[in-house]
Amino acid sequence: MGLFSRDKPKIKIQTSKKDGFSGWLKCTHCSELIHMNELEHNQNCCPKCDYHYRLSTEERIKSLSDPNSFQRLFDQLTTQDALEFVDTESYIKRVVNAKEKSGNNEAVIVGHCTINTRPVALGVMDFNFMGGSMGSVVGERLTRLIEYAQQFRIPLVIVSTSGGARMQESILSLMQMAKTAGALAKLDEAGVPYVSILTNPTTGGVTASFAALGDVIIAEPNALIGFAGPRVIEQTIGQKLPSRAQKSEFWLEHGMIDCIVKRPELRQKLSNIIEYLCSGIDEKKTNHAPADYNNLKLAKSMQNYVLTI
Ligand SMILES: [Zn+2]
Repeated sequence: MGLFSRDKPKIKIQTSKKDGFSGWLKCTHCSELIHMNELEHNQNCCPKCDYHYRLSTEERIKSLSDPNSFQRLFDQLTTQDALEFVDTESYIKRVVNAKEKSGNNEAVIVGHCTINTRPVALGVMDFNFMGGSMGSVVGERLTRLIEYAQQFRIPLVIVSTSGGARMQESILSLMQMAKTAGALAKLDEAGVPYVSILTNPTTGGVTASFAALGDVIIAEPNALIGFAGPRVIEQTIGQKLPSRAQKSEFWLEHGMIDCIVKRPELRQKLSNIIEYLCSGIDEKKTNHAPADYNNLKLAKSMQNYVLTI
């Protein structure tokens, strides 16, 4: 029989290997095939099941602020290894690796921008940098951003994603909770609004400090939000948590957050909330001297805006 003696099949099999990556991806949540362009167009949300994949800091800033309006502040603050901490590898080496992996120099980028032309002090955390952990530099950058918002009376927005405090900095990282919370208390006394946006995942010392102190707290759908992670809780209480526990929908039902907003709608809703909170804005000049921060030119332009709430 010729059937078994054939050396090569007569049907030419077309392979896409030569073309490399075709752009099709399988959603890890719903297993549907989705195209990368469609995913990008939908701000990294699955068009089939609406699962919100992580955004980089750059993508997040782009999705929230007016084009080319974001300017970084306090970027010169960089991590020091005060405790000379070494576990399986040195802290310094971990930071170097994190910089390469994330393309950022710390786990938060802060700066100011405009959102629908409204000046805003914006902080965005980066989970790719050591799990978005809060060390001294993260705490210090955020605290200075809060003080910046207070000085120039512009609304503050922080987008959180974090595994919690940075263990390699021990007590120094825990102190950042008190420092950021203290600065936010002063911001509150000054009547300057703060909107906190929680994304997947936001846990540990970040949830237990600045992320939970917003005048308005927004979460993305299905985001893990909590203090201890589900595995730690299960090991402690010896019971499995319900799958809904610690998700944004659960927290909304229990009053810990104010609303859940899908990512494609986030910019507009955020803008509406900010406009509502700043409804008494007045364009008279402030008496504030220019800040002794790293961007005086930028700071001067902020003097045209005063919030009267
Ligand atoms: Zn999906």
